[in-house]
Amino acid sequence: MSGGLQHVSDDVTRCVHCGKPAAGPCARCHKPVCGDCCTLTEGGETIFAVCLECDRTGGRSLTPGWRWIFRGFLILLAMLAAFALLSLTLLRS
Ligand SMILES: [Zn+2]
Ligand SMILES: [Zn+2]
Repeated sequence: MSGGLQHVSDDVTRCVHCGKPAAGPCARCHKPVCGDCCTLTEGGETIFAVCLECDRTGGRSLTPGWRWIFRGFLILLAMLAAFALLSLTLLRS
């Protein structure tokens, strides 16, 4: 019964950055972060909280992969067009 205040209970979720009690999980990496170590991000209609690390590395979008998927799609289209042009040239000759 004594000394209970000195010992910090372990069932409190801690912020992975500073060790303070976490306010909630990061929307992207799902690590617990406190209010000081996260930024609010608008992802469409809902406001998400992402940790500072994810905010720094991935920008403010929740779907950073879409840019790469779109780029890959463009490259695929260009390759298809080149292939079509090549086969047309071969057929005509
Ligand atoms: Zn923190
Ligand atoms: Zn994160």
